[in-house]
Amino acid sequence: MCGPKFPAMQLSPKIEKALNNQFNLEFASAYVYLGMAAYFEQTPFAGFASWMSVQYREELEHAQKFFKYVNERNGKVVLEAVAQPKSEYKSPVEAFQISLGHEQKVSASILALYELAGEEKDFTTQSFLRWFLDEQLEEEKNVGALVVKLKLIGENINGAFALDHQAGKRGQK
Ligand code: MG
Repeated sequence: MCGPKFPAMQLSPKIEKALNNQFNLEFASAYVYLGMAAYFEQTPFAGFASWMSVQYREELEHAQKFFKYVNERNGKVVLEAVAQPKSEYKSPVEAFQISLGHEQKVSASILALYELAGEEKDFTTQSFLRWFLDEQLEEEKNVGALVVKLKLIGENINGAFALDHQAGKRGQK
């Protein structure tokens, strides 16, 4: 036998490219969060450092989902260079604000990809992306809540350590 295994399921070139872009964005996100983890490791906030490490691993999983999906659909994954992330921030609130802005960018990218899949009548890709739509809502909600709390805490060091402690529980079973 020769030819593609599932010709009917072949990705359109547009969708293949967009899925690759998303794969690379998720992978770059992982690196952004690892940079934030590196920053927090230099502070007394071990809980925030741990939170960022959990986030880093989640982003790697997101990238893996795209990797697997592109291959399942007989597409080709193209790896791109990953930009150097920042590992210096002025304050915890600055790091989390940038994190929120980053998640909003990722959400917009997933929505644009979902829309494109509709235009291309690739409903299988839309089905695959639905998990990410829900995930982005969670991400924005969680990071947004941390930003609000950090702003309320301001210079109150006891408040900062209480939130740090709480953030450190993430990912612990
Ligand atoms: Mg992600």
